[in-house]
Amino acid sequence: MKVLVLGGAGYIGSHTCKYLATHGHDVITYDNLSTGHLEFVKWGPFVYGDIRDYANLRQAVHKYNPDGLIHFAASAYVSESVSNPGQYYDNNVLGSLRVMEVLRDEGVRPLVVSSSCAVYGVPTENYISERLPLNPINPYGRTKLIMEWMLQDFAHAHQIPWMALRYFNAAGADPECEIGEWHTPETHLIPNVLNAILNPASPVNIFGDDYPTSDGTCIRDYIHVLDLAKAHFLALEYLYSQKPGLAVNLGTGQGKSILDIIATAEAVTAKKVPHKFCPRRPCDPSQLVASAELATKILNWIPEYTSIDKIITTAWQWACHKSHN
Ligand code: UDP
Repeated sequence: MKVLVLGGAGYIGSHTCKYLATHGHDVITYDNLSTGHLEFVKWGPFVYGDIRDYANLRQAVHKYNPDGLIHFAASAYVSESVSNPGQYYDNNVLGSLRVMEVLRDEGVRPLVVSSSCAVYGVPTENYISERLPLNPINPYGRTKLIMEWMLQDFAHAHQIPWMALRYFNAAGADPECEIGEWHTPETHLIPNVLNAILNPASPVNIFGDDYPTSDGTCIRDYIHVLDLAKAHFLALEYLYSQKPGLAVNLGTGQGKSILDIIATAEAVTAKKVPHKFCPRRPCDPSQLVASAELATKILNWIPEYTSIDKIITTAWQWACHKSHN
């Protein structure tokens, strides 16, 4: 199949392009390079463009006539969404609206979108299933939930086949080190932990040690980026079989605290992680762990990189590769 990947120069987008291309599919990347990297576009044509630019996006869909679209193009930092909500409503809500309008006007085809566990807010149960209430507690989560609602309405009115994939914490890197996690500034835990090893003068901040968890630090469900990539492909396949649209969690079902991540990074690298404790970051739920049974059931998705050691090993290989290049 031929897939137009919006935001294909970014972290999860580029790993999905590689996955699709190495499994025999054609990929076209559409990206405004605001956070993505041209160096990550290696598996097909590139179209420079912003998803909010209706005419440009429509032209790309018209030109390449893809069988399906995957939409990763979004702003994705919780803290930034709190300090600059306008950017998030503009990029994530208006941008996603433009994508749906283009499909409505240029011809509908399956659409898989990046959503987030941030749509659940503070979960009422330890393992988050798709049945839990949707109560996002930050602008980022609200923009993802609005996108999902818009998609349901467009699907109802215009028959767009859709799936929203609610990621937990994407982590790790391509084991061949062609691509990996590269954000400027980097705000995510695992790359910051590894960067602290590479630059001991800049210890990693641990945001909060007084959460109601076993060691007082936040617990997250880290899912390997290649397992996410595969899920996007399976989602497109699912939609080709005319099945109804829905939102699906992608996680491992295993929670790791910040101190667990530091301990694993020390074991994997055989080096100490310089760190310091800081106040809580605003709007961080104490624990987010997926129940990913639905993805296994309907997509037959079985994550391969389920151990946190493997995830951190690939992230470390990429961090070392990047620091040498
Ligand atoms: N975190 C941290 N130090 C950092 C980056 C993150 O202590 O340098 C914490 C953060 O407060 C959260 C967890 O690590 O509790 C995961 O944060 P990340 O930004 O990686 O992902 P999020 O869960 O916000 O999507």
